[in-house]
Amino acid sequence: MNEKVWLSKYTDSIEKEINIPDISLPQILLDRAQKYPQNTAITFFGRKINYQELYAASIAFAASLQRKGIQKGDRVAIMLPNCPQYVMAYYGALAAGAIITQINPMSVERELEYMLEDSGAETIVVLDGFYPLVKKVQPNVRLKNIIVVSLQPSDRDITPDHYFDEFLKLGLGNFTPVELDTEHDIAVLQYTGGTTGRSKGAMLTHRNIFANVLQTYEFFKESTEIGNERFLTIIPLFHVFGMSSAMNYSIYTANDSIMLPRFDLEEVLNTIKKEQPTIFPGVPTMYVAINSHPRAEEYGINSIRVCNSGSAPMPIELLREFEKKTGSKIYEGYGLTEASPATHCNPMFAERKPGSVGIGFPSTDYKVVDLATGTEEVPVGELGELIIKGPQIMKGYWNMPQETAVSLRDGWLYTGDITRVDEEGYLYIIDRKKDLIIASGYNIYPRDVEEVLYEHPAVQEAVVIGVPDKYRGENVKAILVLNSGQSVDEGEIIEYCRQNLAAYKVPHSIEFRSELPKTNVGKILRRALREEEVLKK
Ligand code: AMP
Repeated sequence: MNEKVWLSKYTDSIEKEINIPDISLPQILLDRAQKYPQNTAITFFGRKINYQELYAASIAFAASLQRKGIQKGDRVAIMLPNCPQYVMAYYGALAAGAIITQINPMSVERELEYMLEDSGAETIVVLDGFYPLVKKVQPNVRLKNIIVVSLQPSDRDITPDHYFDEFLKLGLGNFTPVELDTEHDIAVLQYTGGTTGRSKGAMLTHRNIFANVLQTYEFFKESTEIGNERFLTIIPLFHVFGMSSAMNYSIYTANDSIMLPRFDLEEVLNTIKKEQPTIFPGVPTMYVAINSHPRAEEYGINSIRVCNSGSAPMPIELLREFEKKTGSKIYEGYGLTEASPATHCNPMFAERKPGSVGIGFPSTDYKVVDLATGTEEVPVGELGELIIKGPQIMKGYWNMPQETAVSLRDGWLYTGDITRVDEEGYLYIIDRKKDLIIASGYNIYPRDVEEVLYEHPAVQEAVVIGVPDKYRGENVKAILVLNSGQSVDEGEIIEYCRQNLAAYKVPHSIEFRSELPKTNVGKILRRALREEEVLKK
């Protein structure tokens, strides 16, 4: 809403425009280390790392990068599960002026190779288990430095150039501060897919990311006590939501991020019991899992006061059940990679409307525009594409001026999401204009899967769609037309996909047809196929 309808109602509670100081991300960590040196910054399987220690390790990492010749603007890839070394490498590389390239550790060879090649990263910080994969792609990319993190030091059976803890000593603490231009310098290249094929690196500047931290704080300051909260961090740090809540927001608020490298329900519940987190940013499937545990209450889950749900729609019934069970409140929000990521959330200072993703953040303009023209604002209550303007909106896509020009027009980010707003400015996400599938909080771009299917010798045509699923949000389904005379069964295709795709992208089901519905220009009618599935339910 251009006039920010909601703001006139709530101006007493929150600022409608926020001031974004010219401060880089590593400066925030420095400030926290100076003001709150003894506060715990990270808890990892009982190990506590305070702000002073986190800052010292980050600067040691930065000094070692400099010793290796890394300069401002160079790309440093991180391919790790949630662990303290992730945060050290992230802030260390940023302090050295480098650009972080976040890589999902579940990536397979071709995905990893693409991101390394496209970003031009010469350095990677990687978990020991993925070292062989990195070595395999190394000859085809520009990688020079491989820094290996071993979470169980006793298992060191490879001989990389550097193990993380030894690498920290390489620079002997001789760090040379780097001048950063917060408005223009890129902090993170966050890869995201899209309708137009190749995955794109969204360029998020220091100011984009800091703006989003401040916007979030303005919204949640009532519930985020500086230095007194414990975040339960299960959402992966490589995802923009994990990055912003568990590496940026928790550090800005000088709080503790309790990290788990994977979602294992028993482990999650035991961690809650032991560490008593107060804030739990998550995706709906995580809340579903906790909800479905028969004895969840016995684990002291009522320590959690606030849950920020995002990335996928939160079913209303589940929200109610979860809140009843835990005594916490779920605030559903909305965001996307290109917005660093959050733009909307249900407020604390006004009515929450389950089913909606809330109202716009401070300093965030938004409009719902005609789907076909993309220009005229549609009347309240009607469907259209959501477009957004604000300081958190990315600078553009890395080396992709054409794609940037399509997504960013006149400073407005075209989200590709079909939405509506009500008369109070609350936003409802109806459907994705783009065909992104979100299963268990993971984003799956149909095209990624289709490309692999098309490479199978028996496949003539392939289309991949999301099928609604009560637990995962959506499941991946592939519909195939085979070359004449060919026969292959569902199991073989699934096994083939397993060899070529990260596990979360592998289709749950395969359907064979003799032809696919198409438009008169020959485009597969994805939407019609999706509707058929919905009708079957
Ligand atoms: P990503 O860029 O990976 O963060 O994915 C962003 C997309 O996730 C958005 O464009 C939406 O389609 C979807 N999304 C994010 N939050 C929600 C939500 N609360 N409800 C429904 N869809 C959402």
